[in-house]
Amino acid sequence: MYQPTADINLSALNHNLTQIKKRVKHANVLAMVKADGYGHGIVPVAQSLAAANAFGVARASEAKELVDAQINKPVVLVEGCFDLDEYQWALQSGVQVAIHTPVQLEQFLSLKTSKRITVWLKLDTGMHRLGFSPTQFKTAFQQLEQCQHCVDIISMTHFACADDLENPLNEMQLSEFEQTCSGLEGQQSVANSALILSRPDKIKDWVRPGIALYGSSPIEGSQSQDFDLRPVMTFKANIIAINAIPKGHTVGYGCGWTADKDSTIAVVAVGYGDGYPRHAQNGTPVLINDQKAPLVGRVSMDMITVDISELTNVNIGDSVVLWGEGLPAEEIAICASTISYTLFCGITRRVKRNYIRA
Ligand SMILES: *Cc1c(COP(=O)(O)O)cnc(C)c1O
Repeated sequence: MYQPTADINLSALNHNLTQIKKRVKHANVLAMVKADGYGHGIVPVAQSLAAANAFGVARASEAKELVDAQINKPVVLVEGCFDLDEYQWALQSGVQVAIHTPVQLEQFLSLKTSKRITVWLKLDTGMHRLGFSPTQFKTAFQQLEQCQHCVDIISMTHFACADDLENPLNEMQLSEFEQTCSGLEGQQSVANSALILSRPDKIKDWVRPGIALYGSSPIEGSQSQDFDLRPVMTFKANIIAINAIPKGHTVGYGCGWTADKDSTIAVVAVGYGDGYPRHAQNGTPVLINDQKAPLVGRVSMDMITVDISELTNVNIGDSVVLWGEGLPAEEIAICASTISYTLFCGITRRVKRNYIRA
C-alpha cells in the first residue's frame, strides 16, 4: 500500500536522551512532549522514555493524554492553568503547573484543597513572553512558600536566543536569573535544547530538552551528528509515476520548473496534505535508494515531483526518504525557509506512524 509513513525510531529517541544525560550529568530531565511529542506521538514517546524524570506539555489537554495513559512520571504543564477547574483537575491528578502571571498566582493561592503539588515559578529574564518581572518574582516566590498546597517551588526561565551562541542576551539572561534567584531556596531550570548543547556548564537542576530528544539540532549552522544525536523520525513515501519530460517543457502547478534538457521525473505520493512543506524550493533533496535527487516544481497537496535524470535503477513503488535517516531534517528545513520543529509538528493525520523498537 502506498501511504506516506513516519518511521519513529524509539531506540534513537532513547539514544538521544542518553546523550543529553551524559552532557548534563546530575541534572534531571523534563522531557518536552508537547505538540504530540513534536509530531512523534505523545503517548508512545512518553512510554518509551523510561529514563526521563518528568514530562513537559503546554496544554491541559496534553497533560490529560499522559494522565489517561497512566504514564507514571510527573507531568508539568508549562503554560499553567487558566481557571479554577483546571487547577482542581491538576491538583487531583498530581500534574505540576507553571505559574507565570499574577492572575495564575492569585487563583492558585485561593484554591481550597487538601492536595499538594510542585509549582514551577517562571521568571522573565528577557524573552518577554511569559514570566514574572524580576521585581515581582521574589514576592511571588514568598507567597508560594507560605501556601499549604505548594510542596516545592522550582524557579525557571526561558531563553530567547540560545540557538545563537554569540548573542549577548544569553549571558544577560543567565545573570538576571542568578541575581533574582539568589537567596531563594529550591531547584532551578533554565535550559532548553540549545542551552543544553551549547552551555552544559550552566544547566542547573532541571533541563528541558525538546528538539534534541527528537534528534535535531536547534543551533544555527549545526546538525544533529555534531552532537551525536540521531534522527528519530524518518518520513517516507513512494514513487507512483515516472515520466519522460522533453527539454523546454514544464512540470506542475504554475509551471514551477522547466526542463533544461530531456529529463526523467518521478512523482512521489506525498504533499503538503501530509506535512511536506509547500515552500520547499526547487533543488530540495530527497533520498531514493541512498542517492540524493532534487525536488522540481511546486509541492502539491498529494504529490511532489523529483528529477531522477541522474539516477539509475529507479522504479515505480520505490521508497523515497523526505527527511530522517540519511537526510537531516535541518537540511530540508533550510530549503523550505523554516526550522525542523515545524516539519515534525506538521506531519498530518494521513501519515501512518510506524514505531520501531529494535
Ligand atoms: C518547548 C519548550 C522547551 C523545549 O525547547 P526545545 O528548543 O525544543 O528544546 C523548553 N522549555 C519550555 C518552557 C518549552 O515550552
